[in-house]
Amino acid sequence: METILTVNHLTKKFGLLTAVKDLSFTIEKGNVYGILGPNGSGKSTTLGIILNVVNRTSGDFSWFDGNTSTHEALKKVGAIIERPNFYPYMTAIQNLKLVCKIKEVPETRIQEKLELVGLWDRKDSKFRTYSLGMKQRLAIASALLNEPEILILDEPTNGLDPQGIHQIREIIKKIANQGTTILLASHLLDEVEKVCSHVVILRKGEKLYSGPVDSMMASHGFFELRTADMEKL
Ligand code: ADP
Ligand code: MG
Repeated sequence: METILTVNHLTKKFGLLTAVKDLSFTIEKGNVYGILGPNGSGKSTTLGIILNVVNRTSGDFSWFDGNTSTHEALKKVGAIIERPNFYPYMTAIQNLKLVCKIKEVPETRIQEKLELVGLWDRKDSKFRTYSLGMKQRLAIASALLNEPEILILDEPTNGLDPQGIHQIREIIKKIANQGTTILLASHLLDEVEKVCSHVVILRKGEKLYSGPVDSMMASHGFFELRTADMEKL
């Protein structure tokens, strides 16, 4: 097994609030991981810490073999943690050419990535004309341009209609099948069940469970979650 990320006793406090509490988990290459929990359970904070945009209070994390600096490691990470943001009056292809320049990767990858997310036939449309689902798919294509080891997505289907949700989930599965490791945060049990092989379940910043999705359903009484409102966790 090749380790992509190790998180050790991570804690994050915002003043008196402990957003993430003594959290440990490991991410191995080739799997699809979900961080599952209701709103406010610490999912985005955890992703922010490992992506170096949020400072941790205590604990530690290390990328890959443990000898790679976070700065170096993040060059091999693709992440979408905000709403997709591109130049509205530029086309999809113009936007991605710009990303290629910034990331110093060949423009020849653009077609492959746009085909993967089903946007090649809309490559010449301006970004502002895209639906939210298409914008999210373009963000995924963009995040894949440097062919990252791992793709990190925060609530990738939030705000999308059922068709948009289905498309994004199918794309995530396709990317995983190509060998890219995935880590996604979601408040939807359904999403984790459909897309993920492994899960870390959080409640108020604390880990309730981590392991295969199959065993999550078989043990821990998580059957109840199927119908329970995640907000009540
Ligand atoms: P999730 O992504 O699971 O919805 P978050 O990680 O965004 O949860 O938030 C966890 C907790 O930390 C919440 O109570 C939230 O209000 C709080 N929080 C997040 N970011 C900040 C911040 N910058 N300042 C203060 N509190 C924050
Ligand atoms: Mg969040």
